[in-house]
Amino acid sequence: MKVLGIGAHPDDIEIFMYGLLSIFKKEGHQVYTMIATDGAKGGAYTGYKLAKERANEAISGLEKLSLPIFLNLPDGELGAELGHRKIIKENILKIMPDLIITHSENDYHADHKSLSLITKGAVSHYIPILYCDTLMGINFHPNYYVDITNYQESKKEAVLKHKTQKPDRFVDLIELMNSYRAAQCNAPKGNYAEAYSFVPSFPFSDIREILPAPLKLRPFHIENQHGFL
Ligand SMILES: [Zn+2]
Repeated sequence: MKVLGIGAHPDDIEIFMYGLLSIFKKEGHQVYTMIATDGAKGGAYTGYKLAKERANEAISGLEKLSLPIFLNLPDGELGAELGHRKIIKENILKIMPDLIITHSENDYHADHKSLSLITKGAVSHYIPILYCDTLMGINFHPNYYVDITNYQESKKEAVLKHKTQKPDRFVDLIELMNSYRAAQCNAPKGNYAEAYSFVPSFPFSDIREILPAPLKLRPFHIENQHGFL
């Protein structure tokens, strides 16, 4: 199966979907990654120099998954022109993945929202889309949790490659978010999960068949159950 992760900025795939993509890779699937904008506005300086540096950081961050495809659309202005949709759609169709993972339209950043809506509008009737968690989980209602405990260390290492982004703060963020998502499923401390949302639409009413196994069920009322509560 071909799985495509699309992030708005050069560090988004690592922060929001690295664990699940690592599982797909381990299971023998073909993993593709695509970065929509050039990230030229997110740093201590801006412009071409930053974009080039961030592209190298992304190549290094994603080296265990795939060589990213860079669309180089303008940072902070994704979706401002109709041509952006055409470029995104054409590049998705070149790969023709069996599953797309991208941002939620409820996420905090305008580029994340735009990418989500563009992707949905362009291909959701023939490619199923799984939406990744929002920053701090705000306005996000997951219906699929996946255990990424075995990949949390390599996820941190990948995030740390983004030196222009002061990455320590994002390492703190994923520590908090991924342990909270695991605790929501009653997994004990030291476990990590990523949370996703799938919105059914014809003909993809149920896509569980193509997703890795969800987080283990841990009832909290059973004695000696190894859980958070
Ligand atoms: Zn972003």
